[in-house]
Amino acid sequence: MIKRFITLTLSLGILLTAALQAQQPIHLCGTRDVEAVKQQMLQNRLEMRDFVFPRNAVTYVPVRFILVAKSDGSGRPNERLALQALCNLNEQYADQDIQFYLSEFYYYNSTTVYTNPTGFGGSTAIKNLMQYNAINVFVTNEADDAAAYYQPPAGPGGNDWIVATSAYVSDVRVLAHEVGHFFSLPHPFHGWESSGGWDPNIHGNPVGTMAPDGQTLNELVNGSNCEIAGDGICDTPADYMFPSGNCTYNLNAKDPNGQLLDPDKENIMNYHFGCSSYHFSDDQKQEIQNSLFSSNRNYVRPNYTPNLTEINQSPSVISPSQNEEIPTYNHVELEWSEVPGADYYLLEISNASFGTRTYIVEDNSLLLTDLEPNKGYIWKVMAFNEYYTCANYSTQKIFKTGDEIFSATVEELGLESWSVFPNPVSGTQRFFVSTKTTKPVEMDVIVRTLTGQAVYSKTGVKVAPGQTDVELSPGKLPAGMYLVSIRAEDAVDTKRLVVVE
Ligand SMILES: [Zn+2]
Repeated sequence: MIKRFITLTLSLGILLTAALQAQQPIHLCGTRDVEAVKQQMLQNRLEMRDFVFPRNAVTYVPVRFILVAKSDGSGRPNERLALQALCNLNEQYADQDIQFYLSEFYYYNSTTVYTNPTGFGGSTAIKNLMQYNAINVFVTNEADDAAAYYQPPAGPGGNDWIVATSAYVSDVRVLAHEVGHFFSLPHPFHGWESSGGWDPNIHGNPVGTMAPDGQTLNELVNGSNCEIAGDGICDTPADYMFPSGNCTYNLNAKDPNGQLLDPDKENIMNYHFGCSSYHFSDDQKQEIQNSLFSSNRNYVRPNYTPNLTEINQSPSVISPSQNEEIPTYNHVELEWSEVPGADYYLLEISNASFGTRTYIVEDNSLLLTDLEPNKGYIWKVMAFNEYYTCANYSTQKIFKTGDEIFSATVEELGLESWSVFPNPVSGTQRFFVSTKTTKPVEMDVIVRTLTGQAVYSKTGVKVAPGQTDVELSPGKLPAGMYLVSIRAEDAVDTKRLVVVE
């Protein structure tokens, strides 16, 4: 079901941790027209009153991530953030028989959307990019000072998109919160969004009857007006917006009756960062179900079950080895172990001059032909499938490129196959390069350490058509891994040799 993976994206070191550490002021949910969200919920509640919900069946909902870079392609959020966000989302909805899977990564370049998705130009571009076959999540750099927002109205005839900033998209609850809005949930403090938060000097204590939006009744602590006041949900306690960065509420706000509030800080739809866990209330879960099975949510219920295999290991890097020097900088093959259940691998490679690049590949190897000579590179890889995106990266490895240019394959020169034997070989034993060719080939054989130091070479070796064993006697080699290369005309090919004591 993953339709489009463009293999190359650039992301310029957007580091989530840095953004979260510099979390002052807290960026909150920027959902506009929250009243439309509440009205949608009330309408769903009415329409779904007699609906018979499926029991004990998980609904799999596709999520499409649009990774937005600047117009020049720079600054794109790393796919890793989206995979982590999807993992968090599945954890937060796991007890509701709703799970999410990746339907597509879509790469889009627009400085306008990247920096100002809420403006006219940004929102018009987003509207044009919408595909009503999944929940559309646009990952941008900025969102008008918010961490993320949902844009109503719901349904294919509406807007129905989520925008999340790269600094926040993989927060444990940010995407779960916006998807909560997508499924029609208001904030528990509905009516207070534009107030900047309860302030006794501005809003009074006790507060008045109406919320600062002038149209919502303040919810009472005793629950007597809960069906219409505030968020219109009865089991979320009265709340007048008390955001915190560390999951605390230590104020003495009173409702219009003079009763002290006791807000639910851990509610996913609230504005508290830093809680050890988060939840939806039972009534919120019912409203999510009402929304999920309502007609304007048909498009996120394709009745498709993704590959559900849990991925519980990270790939092991096979090649290049740590600190290996690859002679040909324009022909570097990266290889790692296959991981059971994985349909895709996310490979991340970093270098001082180009920053970080990512690739999504279906195979367990990747040939890079555009690296620079004599440079160091760090790389790591993680496994995922469309549903399970929680796995970790492999340990990261470093390799260096040499300055040789790869321009032909040994096969093109008539070499059908070649090998090194015996392998492993004892350090004092001679060994052979065995070739099988269709025409005469003249070649050099070079033995190197993994860090590129040549320890032996034999030049001008002529091999005839058929099979030839070329004897190599470099003397005693210390135990370890070596690289044996053959070079003929423009072609270079390399194999590994293990030398034991
Ligand atoms: Zn919100």
